[in-house]
This record gives sequence, structure tokens and C-alpha cells, in this order.
Amino acid sequence: MVDDGVIKFHFSSYIKTGPLDSTEYSVIEKHREKLFELNLIGEYLPEQIGFGNLSLRKNYQELVKTDFPQFLITGTQTGKLKHLNGEHYTKVVDGSLENQSIACHGPLEASSESLTHAGIYQASIEIKAIFHVHHPLLWKKMLEKDYSRTKKETPYGTKEMAEEVKQLIKLSRDGIFVMEGHQDGIVFYGASVEEASKLALDTYHLLVT
Ligand SMILES: [Zn+2]
Repeated sequence: MVDDGVIKFHFSSYIKTGPLDSTEYSVIEKHREKLFELNLIGEYLPEQIGFGNLSLRKNYQELVKTDFPQFLITGTQTGKLKHLNGEHYTKVVDGSLENQSIACHGPLEASSESLTHAGIYQASIEIKAIFHVHHPLLWKKMLEKDYSRTKKETPYGTKEMAEEVKQLIKLSRDGIFVMEGHQDGIVFYGASVEEASKLALDTYHLLVT
């Protein structure tokens, strides 16, 4: 049973817009293509459940004034697509971990892991980019090698996960952790898209190839 793709928070508001401009997302898209080639982003078959979501911290205060982290993120169920365009990225403009809610503006609803991304951004203002990928072998090796991890009983996409990652990152900011309770799930984060991407690729090549 693949535990992914289902949105476990609720949308406090969702405003559907036209496609986003490529200047918004091109920096992520360039790196996403490399991860897709390695099947760190993709789709579980035969279940047809997409996995892998990437985000970049942004300032959308002109849309909504809030202390909640604001970020651009890949839309829900885009994992199977090799190339994304302005129809597939969306803006998280507000939310609440306590209420397990996200407010979103864009052509598509935000990824089912948006709340987890929000928890990570809340852990440190220095974190600007987050890559959540899936890979069975990399996940297994990371667990064997004692990488930082979220607990087995913590399900993805919930406020419990968001709170746990916040605490985890406050203890150790190594830019990487594995989600023991979320089959194949791994998170990389950094001060830039380039940093998160490099860490993902270096770790992949270290442990898998
Ligand atoms: Zn996942």
C-alpha cells in the first residue's frame, strides 16, 4: 500500500489563477528534471500515485500579509510529469500548522506535502528551498546508516510531521533527513535550490550508485 498523494490538511482558501510565469519557477524546474531522470520524482505503478515535490521560499506579502512561510511549490499529482510548466506550480500564501490548513493561489492545488514544507521553513529563516523525493534504495540505505529521521509512527502531510521536522531541524541542520514512517520518503533542504539539489545528487551518488 503506497501511502502518498492524499491531501491530509484542508485548504482554508484556494484561489484558482492562470498559469504562473516561467520566471517564478524556472530555477526549480532546471533541477527537477535531473531528479526526475533518477526516478527521485515519478509515479508509483500500478497505483498511479505521483511522488516528489519541490518548493522555493518566496515573498507573497502583496497577496496575503502573514507570518506563515510563503513558498512556490509543485502542484498536487505532478510527479509523473517529466517537464512542468506554469500550469503545474502554485503559491502557498498562508496557512496554519495547528489548524492543519493551507491557503493557496495558483492554477493547481498545492502538493499534499505542503504542510511538511511549511514546518521546515518555520524551523529556520535560512532555509530557502526544499526537495522532497522518494527512492526505495536510498531510503533503505539512509535508515541503515543512521541519518536524521522522523519517527516511524509519524505520517506524512500532517501537523505532527510538520512539528516533528521543525524540532529535528532545530537539533541538527544538515540539510537532509529520512522519513521512517513515510515509505521511501526523503527530504533535502538548503539556503538555495542549488544547495538542496547538490545535496540530493551527492547523497544519491554516495549511497546508490
Ligand atoms: Zn512523499
